Amino acid sequence: MDTASYKNCTLCPRDCEVDRTKGPLGFCGESAACRVSFIGPHFGEEPSFTGFHGSGTIFFSGCSSQCFFCQNYQISIQHDGRTITPAELLSEVRALLLKGVHNLNFVTPDHFWPHIQSLCRALREEGIKIPKLFNSSGYQRPERVEDYAQEMDIFLPDFKFAEPETAKMCMGDARYPEIALKALREMVKSKGFLEPWDTTGLLTAERGVLVRHLVLPGHVENSLRVLRLLHKEFGPGLPLSIMSQFRPVPGCFQRKKFQRILSPEEYGQVLDLVGKLGFEKVYTQELKEETDFLPDFKDPENPFFGNKRRSTTND
Ligand code: SF4
Repeated sequence: MDTASYKNCTLCPRDCEVDRTKGPLGFCGESAACRVSFIGPHFGEEPSFTGFHGSGTIFFSGCSSQCFFCQNYQISIQHDGRTITPAELLSEVRALLLKGVHNLNFVTPDHFWPHIQSLCRALREEGIKIPKLFNSSGYQRPERVEDYAQEMDIFLPDFKFAEPETAKMCMGDARYPEIALKALREMVKSKGFLEPWDTTGLLTAERGVLVRHLVLPGHVENSLRVLRLLHKEFGPGLPLSIMSQFRPVPGCFQRKKFQRILSPEEYGQVLDLVGKLGFEKVYTQELKEETDFLPDFKDPENPFFGNKRRSTTND
């Protein structure tokens, strides 16, 4: 495995230049020892990835974005998880594949990219072919996308902020919109739009890009700007997932606007613009008080209630 990237780490746009093999740690808060929180079939992704047998998710601990509202805050901010060696990771991924998942879904992969790259090479050498997803915050170094594209088939980036000031307030880097847009251009250039496009889950995705956007309470204007920006840059054919599942987490408690779920009016305004701009391939979510897919990583066996329910139904 290429551990050199961990020694003067510039794996993400934070450019910490720390030696993660010795310390101190950088912004993502993770050393060069790979850490994961959950490896297993997940049914909370869009039908294009979940299909009928689940998406083969690998949730990594830590994150370079550190958004205070992160719905996975237990692993991204509080660093829940366990250390895993490259051999153990390979073995657990092999076991995951035996469960019949439709893809391998690397969640927050950029700060452990050398481990993931080495894993993908090992799988290739064993002749294992399965779509691989780079499931990320969108906050990627654009020049690294080509490298990711060597191993990954699908890019599933967020596009969280079009407003620099909102990005600064939420994750401390006003450059997010500019960086995420450049990275997204590279992703679309290398893989195109998601295909096949089948919202029934019958035909799961094999290649391409789908962009996720989580609408934040009190920040509809940011979402409208995201939509206009994406439309201007990529046109109405860009596949989107417009998410309403925001729930207040501990990092929101000091921030008044973030202490509630989204209102139907807010989500409606965003979906209205999706319609007016003519986006052709769009996943939306039902807006409701309860969700089965707000994770609790304190239960490492299966942090998603919805997964437990689906696996029981599938038995
Ligand atoms: S991956 Fe972590 S240590 Fe490396 S540059 Fe990004 S935040 Fe800093």
